[in-house]
Amino acid sequence: MGLIVQKFGGTSVGDIGRIKNAAGRVMDEKKKGNDVVVVVSAMGKTTDGLVGLAYQAASKPSKRELDMILTTGEQITISLLTMALQDSGYDAVSMTGWQAGIETESIHGNARITNINTDKIKDNLSESRIVVVAGFQGLAGNGEITTLGRGGSDTTAVALAAALKAERCDIYTDVDGVYTSDPRYVKNARKLASVAYDEMLELANLGAGVLHPRAVEFAKNYGVPLSVRSSMEKLDGTIIEEEVSMETGLIVRGVAFEEEIIRMTVFGLRNEITSLSSIFSTLAKHHINVDIIIQSKTETESINLSFSIKREDLEDAIEVLQNNRKELGFTTIEHESGLSKVSIVGSGMISNPGVAAQMFEVLADHDIPIKMVSTSEIKVSVVVDESQMLKAAEVLHTEFNLDKAEQPQKVSVK
Ligand code: ADP
Ligand code: ASP
Ligand code: MG
Repeated sequence: MGLIVQKFGGTSVGDIGRIKNAAGRVMDEKKKGNDVVVVVSAMGKTTDGLVGLAYQAASKPSKRELDMILTTGEQITISLLTMALQDSGYDAVSMTGWQAGIETESIHGNARITNINTDKIKDNLSESRIVVVAGFQGLAGNGEITTLGRGGSDTTAVALAAALKAERCDIYTDVDGVYTSDPRYVKNARKLASVAYDEMLELANLGAGVLHPRAVEFAKNYGVPLSVRSSMEKLDGTIIEEEVSMETGLIVRGVAFEEEIIRMTVFGLRNEITSLSSIFSTLAKHHINVDIIIQSKTETESINLSFSIKREDLEDAIEVLQNNRKELGFTTIEHESGLSKVSIVGSGMISNPGVAAQMFEVLADHDIPIKMVSTSEIKVSVVVDESQMLKAAEVLHTEFNLDKAEQPQKVSVK
């Protein structure tokens, strides 16, 4: 007998029938004698609908009020799921993020969880009650309601599992596990039986929307056994854990992709020792995340600097840079939109040189120009034109044998 945290995403609680189905999964776990904490998302596309309403009310709604409206979505689901459980004779109670003791940074729209005061949840568990918690939301030290970023209910679930020292955290969703690539777009994507935390962290950060990156971060840092599984079919899911046996021999384990990447270029930056730190600390202060960075010297000894950011940060990035142009010491900025990032990920890359070369070769063979590149020990990412993103993902998926049953793979450089 232990404590299990279950999380049900939007599609899995999309209507009353699905909420009852989720309740069934909760009761199954409870019947086994476990304590159960359940985290839920807003029903179906509710969050998108609320964002839409906000943008009808105002052209640039304030982040505080966005959090205020978005947190209502999850509050509907917790009450309905709790009612369904009670209707089946189970003792259950719903809690908003703040009632559940989820404390966050004082940032709207993308706050990190800083602490969880589990007293109230534990009191209820000790009464053998099922606790149903609203995902994606918390309370900042200044008393403000915050949200954790889109997809953040996963993070609520794993953070609760870590804080409560749960035996397991099960993420129930509309796919039956983590695949070698997004099965909605890449035909022949295959379900993986297990993935290492580090690989999953890269995949999630690089666009595999099946898990929120911070959820994987929590799972890794606190050693929470995590699984991704189907809420509709009773199938084995994917286990995310520290060590995944390498007998599969696959060097690349997954292909991730992400749209709406912007390449910003800063021209004529003064070539001084502090130039780069000034630019990037100014952007960081405004919470603008920069990804790939490329620096080149010009004939006049000034620097041209290109870096990639997400579409959602474009307006802020332009404003911040223009407002600080004199101090930062550059002449002009330009940006290119319509780009996307395609990445290959796998722990096996650490000891296998030539993977990046093979990636570039296959993209060249298929006439897909590469605009930017970045690598880490276990991933290679390229920025390509948005129109070629899915083609690039498909050809890389095939090239690295991800469509085949798991088998040893050699890296070949022509
Ligand atoms: P939920 O609402 O349950 O949180 P999400 O839509 O956030 O569900 O995540 C599930 C979706 O993630 C899937 O429907 C799938 O299209 C997408 N996805 C992207 N990459 C992968 C991958 N590598 N494996 C499985 N699903 C993926
Ligand atoms: N409802 C939020 C969203 O749609 C959080 C979540 O589902 O994880 O992004
Ligand atoms: Mg999700």
